[in-house]
Amino acid sequence: MSLCYMEGEWRGTAECRLSVTDLVIQRGVGVFDSIRIYGRRAFALAEHMKRLERSASIVGIECGDIIERMYGIVREGARRTDCPGDGESIARLYITGGDENDHGRFPRPRHFAIFEQARPDAPAVYETGVALLPTPEGRLSPVAKSVNYLFGLMQSAGSDEFRECLYCPGGEITETLSSSFFLCKDGVITTAPLGRVLDGVTRGIIIELARENGFEVDERCPTVEELNRADEVFITGSTKEVLPVVRVGGTGIGCGRPGPIAARLRKIFRESLDRWLDKG
Ligand SMILES: *Cc1c(COP(=O)(O)O)cnc(C)c1O
Repeated sequence: MSLCYMEGEWRGTAECRLSVTDLVIQRGVGVFDSIRIYGRRAFALAEHMKRLERSASIVGIECGDIIERMYGIVREGARRTDCPGDGESIARLYITGGDENDHGRFPRPRHFAIFEQARPDAPAVYETGVALLPTPEGRLSPVAKSVNYLFGLMQSAGSDEFRECLYCPGGEITETLSSSFFLCKDGVITTAPLGRVLDGVTRGIIIELARENGFEVDERCPTVEELNRADEVFITGSTKEVLPVVRVGGTGIGCGRPGPIAARLRKIFRESLDRWLDKG
């Protein structure tokens, strides 16, 4: 069952209500973060909390002590969740603009947290890979994890062929709708630098693990032209972990099948989970 913490109470998510006066509803003012819970322990909790705080600060939401309180809420939710299996649940933390707009500052935000079953892709998806739809636009305020995915969702609306859109402003590849993007060529892994993209927690961990395991990682935006010559492409995110990409628009990647680097990094990632699990 999906559980929600809101205003000091724990209830079923379907019983929780947000006021229609909240600016997240009226103007899309809100930020969030998703944290995977493996065996009742949150994954990379501090990294996610720091990002949530940064996201709020960038969009003008004044958090007060919300972040501090969120630590306790996540740990309590991880204990209460009834999907305790390996990576089976996910915490979604939201901070919304609240009812007050002081010239683009939001001094009285609301917050809530949903604990629900994680729905990772079936193993078959990792064996066949996914396709991305390139768009020449960039993401608005790329450094903040805002709730506003509308523009990105519109890009691939109605298509079951493409998993997500791929932002390629000026021919430079940044990230996808909700994942970090990696291109591999001759053993070098390239991914967009911080500042151009969201500071993906999985991105940071994969870069660290790749370097520890002897891969060279180049933090610059790959270009759209490089897709033709790429050996491999993959995307990362808290639920996806490391997901292979076999096609971008009409361009097949490598030999059109998932490659060995994505598989190897996913295996290393899974074997290293414990390093980032909450000990609190
Ligand atoms: C959530 C998200 C990611 C992935 O972040 P993780 O912390 O790895 O889950 C990457 N890019 C965008 C735009 C996102 O919204």
